[in-house]
Formats: sequence, C-alpha cells, structure tokens
Amino acid sequence: MTSNLATAQDPTGSPPRPSPAAIVALKAALGDIPFVDDPAVVRLRSRDFFWYSPILKEELRGKAADLVVMPRHEADILHVARECTARRIPIVVRGGGTGNYGQMVPLAGGVLLDVSGINRVLWLKPGLGRFEAGAKLIDIDITAVPTGWELRMHPSTKRTATIGGFVAGGAAGVGSIRYGQLRDRGSVAALRLVTMEDTPRAIELRGDEVRSALHAYGTNGIITEVEMPLAPTWPWTEAIIAFDDFMTAARFAQALGESAGIVSKLVTLIAWPIPSYFKPLREFLPDGRTIVIAMIAVPSLEPFHSLVKESAGTITLERPTPADDDPSVIPLYEYTWNHSTLQVLKIDRTVTYLQSIFVPGRNLEQVEHMYGKFGDEVMLHCEFQRRQGRVSCSALQVVRFSTAERLREIIRYHEENGVRISNPHTYILEDKGPKIVDGDHQLAFKHLADPYGLMNPGKMSRWVPAP
Ligand code: FAD
Repeated sequence: MTSNLATAQDPTGSPPRPSPAAIVALKAALGDIPFVDDPAVVRLRSRDFFWYSPILKEELRGKAADLVVMPRHEADILHVARECTARRIPIVVRGGGTGNYGQMVPLAGGVLLDVSGINRVLWLKPGLGRFEAGAKLIDIDITAVPTGWELRMHPSTKRTATIGGFVAGGAAGVGSIRYGQLRDRGSVAALRLVTMEDTPRAIELRGDEVRSALHAYGTNGIITEVEMPLAPTWPWTEAIIAFDDFMTAARFAQALGESAGIVSKLVTLIAWPIPSYFKPLREFLPDGRTIVIAMIAVPSLEPFHSLVKESAGTITLERPTPADDDPSVIPLYEYTWNHSTLQVLKIDRTVTYLQSIFVPGRNLEQVEHMYGKFGDEVMLHCEFQRRQGRVSCSALQVVRFSTAERLREIIRYHEENGVRISNPHTYILEDKGPKIVDGDHQLAFKHLADPYGLMNPGKMSRWVPAP
C-alpha cells in the first residue's frame, strides 16, 4: 500500500506529490466520472492569472495536477473525495480559473477538480438564491434579473468566474459601493461543502459559520452549493466622467459614493496614464485626464448629472449597461477592478500591480499622498466601496516593475504610512494580510474537514497535520 501513498518532499519545497501508482489506481477507481490526463491539457487547466505577478510567475512555473476530473453532481464529488482520501491524493478545486494569485495552481500534483459542470440555479426567492458552485456569475444574473433580483456584488470577471470560485477566492467587486465585501456578515448566506475525511460528508455552514470556508482557497472543503442574498435589480447606466486633475476626480468619486440618494453600483477612479491603455475606449478618454467609471441606476441620473456638474466633471460616455446576455458590447466594468490591470498588461507586459486598502475617513488624504509620492511608477486606480459602514476605497495600483526589492520598498512605504497591503505576489493564504477572513476558524475547520491536509496543499502555511 505504501507505494500508493504520497512520495517524499518535492525538492522545490512543494508538498509531496502522489506516486504514479497511486494515480493509476485512482483513475481505475473513478468509474464513469469523466477525467482528462493529457499532460498538455492538464498543464493548461492548472493555471490561473498568477502571471500578473513576475514573482509568482517564477515560483509557479511548471506546477500542474496529474489529472483533471470533471464531476457531474455532488455524488461524483463525494466519490472522488473518498478515493483520493484513501490514497492520500491531493485535490485542488477549479471554478473559472480566474484567480490572480495561483490559488488554484496545484503545488503537489494530484487531482484538479473542475466543478464548472455543476452549475444549476437551484432556487430563487425574493432577496435570496441558491446555486451550485460551478454556476457562472453571469448565468446567475441572467436567471435572476427577470425575477427582479440580482447578485449584490460580482467581480469584474462576472462573465467567466463561478460563484464557488468567488466565495472561495474573491473579495469584492461591482456592487461593493452599496453592499461592502464578501467578508461582511450577511454577504454569503450559506455554503454546502464536501469534506475529505475517511468517509467524506456533505455539510452545511450557515450564517457566521460560512467564515470558516470563505476566501480559504478551497483548503478546507469542496464547496458544492452557495446561498447568496440578492439585491433588487435596476436598469443600469454606465458612464465615463473625465476631470482636469486627479484630486478633483477623487473627491467626486467619494461624493458620489456618499450620495445616499443616488443609487450607484460602481465608482472607479483611474489616474492617467492608465486610461491610455484602454484602446477600445480611446475616443472617450481625453489625453492626460483622470477618469471615473460609474454605474448608476437610471432613475438616479438626474441627481448624478447635477453632482457631475457641481464637481466640474465632463461626461464623455453614457450608455445603458449592456445586458448580460448581449456579448456584442464589452461592459465598462471590464475596465475596472482587476480588469484595469489586465487592459494595461495586454499592451505592456513589464507592469505588475499592488492591492491596498486605505483607512476609512482618511482615504482621500492617503490617496493624495501616494499619488504625489510615486507618480507614474505606481499608477493609481481606486475602487470606492463601503467599508466598516463608511465610503472608502481600496486600490489596485498598476506598478512599473523594476526589481522585487523595489516592489518590497513600495509595499513597505505604504504600510509605514498606514495603508494596508493585500499582497498579490504570494499564493500563501496567511501572507495576504487583511484579506484573511478568520484564520483561526479556518485552520480549526481544516482539521475537521481535511484531517490529512489533502485540500490545496501548500496554500495554508499554518497547517500542520495532527500527530
Ligand atoms: P478559481 O480561480 O477557479 O478559484 C479561486 C479559488 O477558489 C481557488 O483557490 C480554487 O481552488 C477555489 N475554488 C474554486 N471553486 C471552489 C469550490 N467550489 N470549492 C472550494 N474551493 C473552490 N476578484 C474579486 O474579488 N473582485 C474582482 O473584481 C476581481 N476582478 C478580477 C479581474 C480579472 C481580470 C481577474 C483575472 C481576476 C479578478 N478577480 C477579482 C479575481 C477572480 O476573478 C475572482 O476571485 C473570481 O471570483 C474567481 O472565481 P473563479 O471561478 O475563476 O475561481
């Protein structure tokens, strides 16, 4: 039996890989559950968007699963979990594969569990919906909007990411200006997950219990269903507003977020020269000017226009937000959140990025300081959102990368000046800083749900198997 168990520690420092014999035995035990073991396909599926980071690009080079398994329903997941647990073969779950930190890159081979085929909307009722984990966010809204409800927030990867991947790997997004972050109490109603115990079970976490598995990178359970609160839907307008100077735009973004009477869904501040990289929108992006991208409910347009006028802004584009089932127009939200970085990377692969969280109440002062300090080396892009009951912002700065040491210096300077950094250049959960939801509970829950440490091994650094 020993030859079917994991082999010794990999020399790269990754957790041990399963032996070839264990993989052969697993394939035989999968029965009719579909899987792919063509190494080229497996390698491709084992990647996410970690290449944004020159550091992760080096660290994760060549890491891949041994096979991709495509369960069709929860019973398949229980079967795969049981067979993998028996052979001590790791499992990493893949949703849409749009994570940014190599969260779903298997460090120790084993199974990449592609749950995208488990994707039904289970039910919808006023203000609440339940979905299978592989449901794409866009498909959820396509089903929910005709009933008068929509997801409270979604990442800018709405068109490709899954609901399971969002709660396991994401943080916030379009809608956060009203509804805050995923980590806020009430943002996720319930999770159903499969454990990797000797006899795997499906268990339900409700209310505050969801914190045990929220943003845990799938290190302590395979999420099979997600129950989410929904928001009343609106006809949305999207707009670009241009400003002569950066701080005037920043103050407008803050004021728009704080305008309780204006229903907004997105307030994004982007300093020049980032807009110069948004090629398809260039006619709406005057040279040298800072822009704000906003989504506003149609009935709020009149007060929105008044605020733009009062703030000396110029609306350069205003149009209905494209319907989710209309692929012919790229929605403006695909220039916000971490899509802004992507738009720049499409043209200039030498840049990278940072993620930082400003202090509510002091955010504009801190933003002004960093803008003055770093200029074009750290190009500012801020997402306004509700934090701790106030309107504040985080930033996904586009950084002109020179050396890892300079990047560390920039991070240090932010931290020394009270700006928290959520480091996007690490795949270790605990090294993410403020994004960790509830480290102690997550570790304790891993001891219960994954006693052999087989779920996404190498990502939770505090994990030590029980003797
Ligand atoms: P994956 O990348 O497949 O997985 C993410 C993590 O969750 C992995 O650790 C994976 O193992 C785990 N996982 C996936 N499914 C399950 C499951 N069923 N059970 C247990 N674990 C699971 N993030 C934001 O929060 N807001 C944004 O606005 C945003 N914008 C982005 C823009 C771009 C261009 C890119 C590339 C990324 C962006 N992200 C953003 C990051 C990412 O898209 C989101 O986190 C997204 O929600 C991930 O969903 P996914 O289905 O692709 O998950």
